Amino acid sequence: MKILVLNCGSSSLKYQLIDMDTEQVLAKGLCERIGLNNSRVTHKIFDGNSFEKEISLQNHLDAVQIVMDNLLDENYGVLQNITEIDAVGHRVLHGGKFFNKPVIVDSEVKNAIRECFVLGPLHNPQNLMGIEACEKLMPGTKQVAVFDTAFHQTMPTKAFLYALPYEYFERYQIRRYGFHGTSHQYVSMRATKMLDNSNLKIITCHLGNGSSICAVENGKCIDTSMGFTPLEGLAMGTRCGDIDPAIIKFLICEENLTINQIDDILNKKSGIFGISGISSDFRDIEAAAINGNERAKIALEIFYYRCAKYIGSYASAMNGVDAIVFTAGLGENSPITREKICSYLNYLGVEIDKEKNNCRGREIDFSADNSHVKLLVVPTNEELMIAKETLALI
Ligand code: AMP
Repeated sequence: MKILVLNCGSSSLKYQLIDMDTEQVLAKGLCERIGLNNSRVTHKIFDGNSFEKEISLQNHLDAVQIVMDNLLDENYGVLQNITEIDAVGHRVLHGGKFFNKPVIVDSEVKNAIRECFVLGPLHNPQNLMGIEACEKLMPGTKQVAVFDTAFHQTMPTKAFLYALPYEYFERYQIRRYGFHGTSHQYVSMRATKMLDNSNLKIITCHLGNGSSICAVENGKCIDTSMGFTPLEGLAMGTRCGDIDPAIIKFLICEENLTINQIDDILNKKSGIFGISGISSDFRDIEAAAINGNERAKIALEIFYYRCAKYIGSYASAMNGVDAIVFTAGLGENSPITREKICSYLNYLGVEIDKEKNNCRGREIDFSADNSHVKLLVVPTNEELMIAKETLALI
């Protein structure tokens, strides 16, 4: 069985072709700057060979066509015929209230994804374009939609409802949805495998450019830090996370900003970038902090502190915690981040093994022998999770 996984962003398309018998990635690649000048594509196959070229990509249909061409390429291809692909799994950002699990795409599903455009305006239209491009270029091949929000649909009302007038929930479905669901689901599943126990209270920390934390009890999400949009929660690369909403009116008045400008500031100019004034990349901030930059130091302190506060609140939400899992760019690769966050959690019985923690990008249990809570690093693999969900459905 060969599954193609597509992840359509606002101007990009990431793809992986996975052989599900071996879980080997046969080929993967990235189309960038779709709809802009200087679009480019990179393509890499299982033996390490790769190419990169500039190519005109007007829209996601062009991009999907290029993916097909790459997979069939004389020198860098891995397929003889496109019909060798058994199904396509699409990452879809927002499933709104409609989807609590992956689904095979039909016209009703497409209509629901369309209804969620307003909730995910930068992603859902492109996700649907990717689906429709595949329908056109690979007629008859099953398409599966895997939603970033679906895993969080098990949250109880007390966790997802905001303390706003109830009519806004009824009229506009304003509520917490949560994101990174595929990643939280994958790493929590891996954790239950690693610990050989499926009845656990797990806190999963997806710490990357975008970051979120999730409370998972017996395999089900019961709360998560991102909200109606991915802006809520932790301080992130460029997103502010939790702030007093009154700051928005204050800034609009004092700085004479439009609503779009404030939106841009909160999403793209805040977070560790906004505090440090240096970069949104944690590697740059860690390096600057080591060199004594005070704003880089405080940006990191804020990031660690917020993570620890969320972990504490989710330990309360579940009345305990058996395991804390770190994943994504920073969670997988930054021992100092894990150490600093865990240093706030001794009251929960969290003790790290410093030597084991000194690792990057691989699964490890870095809890000390006397730790009451298991501490794990689990590299996320959203593409494999999407492929598995797709396979399960077809
Ligand atoms: P992601 O969004 O999951 O791709 O994660 C991207 C973030 O992870 C960026 O801010 C990177 O700086 C950070 N990151 C990746 N590798 C490392 C590393 N070795 N040390 C610290 N941060 C890292």
